[in-house]
Amino acid sequence: MAENEKVLVVDFGGQYNQLIARRVRECNVYCEIISYRAGLDAIRAANPVGIILTGGPNSVYLEDAPTMDPALFEMGIPVLGICYGSQLMSHLLGGHVCRAPEREYGKTLVHTSSQSPIFQNVSRDTICWMSHNDYIETPAPGFMITAYTDNCPVAAAENREKNLYAVQFHPEVLHTQEGKQMLHNFVYNVCGCKGDWKMDSFVERSIAALREKIGDGKVLCALSGGVDSSVAAAMLSKAVGSQLTCVFVDHGLLRKNEMEQVCEIFGGDEFEMNFICVDARQRYYDKLAGVEEPEKKRKIIGEEFIRIFEEEAKKIGRVDFLVQGTIYPDVVESGLGGESTVIKSHHNVGGLPDYVDFKEIVEPLRDLFKDEVRQAGRELGLPEYLVSRQPFPGPGLAVRIIGEVTPEKVAMVQDADAIWREEIAKAGLESQLSQYFAALTNMRSVGVMGDERTYDYAIALRAVTTVDFMTAESAEIPWSVLQTVTSRIVNEVKHVNRVLYDCTGKPPATIEWE
Ligand code: GLN
Repeated sequence: MAENEKVLVVDFGGQYNQLIARRVRECNVYCEIISYRAGLDAIRAANPVGIILTGGPNSVYLEDAPTMDPALFEMGIPVLGICYGSQLMSHLLGGHVCRAPEREYGKTLVHTSSQSPIFQNVSRDTICWMSHNDYIETPAPGFMITAYTDNCPVAAAENREKNLYAVQFHPEVLHTQEGKQMLHNFVYNVCGCKGDWKMDSFVERSIAALREKIGDGKVLCALSGGVDSSVAAAMLSKAVGSQLTCVFVDHGLLRKNEMEQVCEIFGGDEFEMNFICVDARQRYYDKLAGVEEPEKKRKIIGEEFIRIFEEEAKKIGRVDFLVQGTIYPDVVESGLGGESTVIKSHHNVGGLPDYVDFKEIVEPLRDLFKDEVRQAGRELGLPEYLVSRQPFPGPGLAVRIIGEVTPEKVAMVQDADAIWREEIAKAGLESQLSQYFAALTNMRSVGVMGDERTYDYAIALRAVTTVDFMTAESAEIPWSVLQTVTSRIVNEVKHVNRVLYDCTGKPPATIEWE
């Protein structure tokens, strides 16, 4: 069989590298990621029809910054550099890259040139997603500027003769409104692809693979009731039926009434599975007492989860496999997505203890983004209310309470969060928002209530819209809703005298606060 045409993504540590690969595959072109460390010979050996250089956290002009043999640009293979990749291309070919006077994050209006093949069928003024501190001050000789923004003179540049293209923004994220068209243009118009590749069914393939791996062994699935672990559990239940036991841990860091709801869904008739609910509230509060540092909190919680799963597995006997609903953003943010750096250690990935007493950890969703997980859930027949639930982090409210976690603070954030959710539902905003919650800032400030001085906590409200949770925008909430919620929280939740709304997108912030 003839080999498929292939686009190679060269990884310089960007957060969105898998998204680039996914978008190329969505164009029906096979795509693989390779580390920049693999070097030019490995790239040549892969025989790609096009090369994409990813973003990355470094600055090209610093010593030891990830780099590439400039011969890459002489191979006659089209290259698209994205963000760090665009800066590297310019730097290596004689342009000037330096710290930008104005950094750009998030939604940015970009003016594009009709001349560029990358911008065919793209509007002249188009919203793109930026995330950079550096910029291309002067493009390399032979390059023509094909896009700019108010703060960035070279938002795109190209050397058409050599088929080299550089874009400062991220076409792979959905917040770049015409990004798919741009990548389609690169793959089809520049690389000349025909689109000879098709994805097969992820769900069917995974169920077959899980059956094969597990055989007649026993499996324990860490179930939080969130979308990811529910989809993982449903997949395992299809694959190995009653060999599966799901364990739900109440760590005392759940949303109000969450424990009851999860037990009702998974302990009920809808799912035929062995289901165990472990009350570990005190155990977690003890371990977390006095701990303030976010990464430390995450690691303690991650380790405790594993210890509980090990204990439950011993009670069942002969359990070889632990299943986790890890998804791709957890992997990248934990610094394990190829060259990416640590943003936060997800409890199920970077937060795992060194020793785990299971033969193997099985993560069937490890390569998927959130929206793909939801799609898999629908294919598995999970009810829509479960599939479209908003995400809730494994460490729960511990990452929504800045600083030390105490049962009192948990109660405060639970109550404030319940009010926020209730009012969002009343206003009919639920379906427009991807995730919304209250966080307890560790900040206290002065207020006056009933003519008396108070010195109490500030609650922060957050609401974002996103599809894949790799980038997000702060949602526009009607002022009247914010006012109602504010007065209810201050009136009903003790020790809160101030309410703030978080207007920051991701990047530069993350969705959760820690
Ligand atoms: N680190 C580089 C900058 O800040 C590139 C960032 C990126 O690739 N997202 O400009």
